[in-house]
Amino acid sequence: MSYSRSPRNARKSGGGRPPRFEDNEDTIALLESVGPVVLPPEIESFDELDLSPVMRLAIAKAGFTKPSPIQAALIPYALAGTDVIGQARTGTGKTAAFSIPILEQLDSLEECRDPQAIIVVPTRELADQVAGEAARLAYGVPTEIAILSGGKNMNRQLRQLENGVQVVVGTPGRIHDHLQRGTLRLDKTWCVVLDEADRMLDIGFRPQIERIMRKCPRNRQTLLLSATLPPVVRRLAESYMSEPVVIDCCRNEMAVDTIEQRYFTVANDRKVELLEQLLEREDPEQAIIFCRTKRGTDRLHRQLSRTYHGACGCIHGDLQQRERDRVLQSLRDRKLKLLIATDVVGRGIDITTISHIVNFDVPQDCDDYVHRVGRTGRMGRDGVAYTFVVPGEGEVLTSIEQRINKELVRDSIEGFDPVPEVTAAAEAASAAEEEAPTEARRSLNPMTRKKKRRR
Ligand code: AMP
Repeated sequence: MSYSRSPRNARKSGGGRPPRFEDNEDTIALLESVGPVVLPPEIESFDELDLSPVMRLAIAKAGFTKPSPIQAALIPYALAGTDVIGQARTGTGKTAAFSIPILEQLDSLEECRDPQAIIVVPTRELADQVAGEAARLAYGVPTEIAILSGGKNMNRQLRQLENGVQVVVGTPGRIHDHLQRGTLRLDKTWCVVLDEADRMLDIGFRPQIERIMRKCPRNRQTLLLSATLPPVVRRLAESYMSEPVVIDCCRNEMAVDTIEQRYFTVANDRKVELLEQLLEREDPEQAIIFCRTKRGTDRLHRQLSRTYHGACGCIHGDLQQRERDRVLQSLRDRKLKLLIATDVVGRGIDITTISHIVNFDVPQDCDDYVHRVGRTGRMGRDGVAYTFVVPGEGEVLTSIEQRINKELVRDSIEGFDPVPEVTAAAEAASAAEEEAPTEARRSLNPMTRKKKRRR
């Protein structure tokens, strides 16, 4: 069976931009300064999008019936060749949102042996996941996808590039490596995706990203996905994107509604004990427990392994790539019930059976909180997130609440009375907020700063 996907040239001549979706609320000045802001349209089925029969079959095979908001909004723009900034968290279906239009427009390997699309992601785990999802959606059409990420066999990557690839998924460091060696050519690349752009810039990949962008043809399409749009991301967009539209999928949902978010106050030396009791009370299907440091992650892993033996794994940046892959596969296969992780590696995990998140250590910043908590409640499933707050961390709790525009619910377990210092700090902060609630929220959360709609 051979369906031809809409050829790439159809993209150029195709009917122009899809209509702009009306925003009936005040527009957000911040987003508008980057480009026109659109909100996701209500679409009930993939049939309402202009997709080829083979793609519809692949989507059905993947078990997707209704497009998620980012998919409903991004796919028509991407198919029309427009540059898009999608403000969307992980877990919202953003991978399929950019993969579907790319796959729809790929020329065959016979027609072009150099990469036509390049997807740049912050971590190796995310590269594997994105490539896996793209391969799944390429069902029915032979498609060469190469993963170019660090920690993976270089020779294999070189062989694959030599044999010809249509799509590259990789981390900025390794992609940049290949460009320097002259083993990767981007002059046929018509689409660049910067996935989790905020995180890539956080990690310090800006120089590599810029060099990659400069190696791509000027008339390419750029799709940028980011949970947040801080100034560094906006500057990147201004420098390397052409008249982008901004899709706002984060309005009113900095952390998904289906996730119950709770906190415990606890003395530092009783955290492990509290965690053990919490796990006993909750009996999670699968849980990820986030720690701040690699050593802390190892230590907690040793402690929990006494009770959970083979059902408890651990993952952090010091582990070999092979070991990280093995642990994640065990989690996917449900051999593991508990995974102890640090932020950088934990954030790419996309497993729908994660029912619980525990922030054993409070996250370093509020964005990390949003990303950690987003590991559960994937695609609208229920999830619970618990945060352990020790004395002196009350303010962190408050700024998390301001970031997500939602109060965390205090939880307790018998024998673990609320720790007074924490509670006092949190209450003082919330009392201050009560006096000027909206002002405090607005100044701290740039996403809620509004201005009057321009006509
Ligand atoms: P992502 O945000 O790309 O990490 O996707 C999160 C999860 O949702 C992945 O496991 C996807 O396979 C799944 N997914 C993506 N789109 C849909 C959809 N329209 N319906 C159901 N599941 C989806």
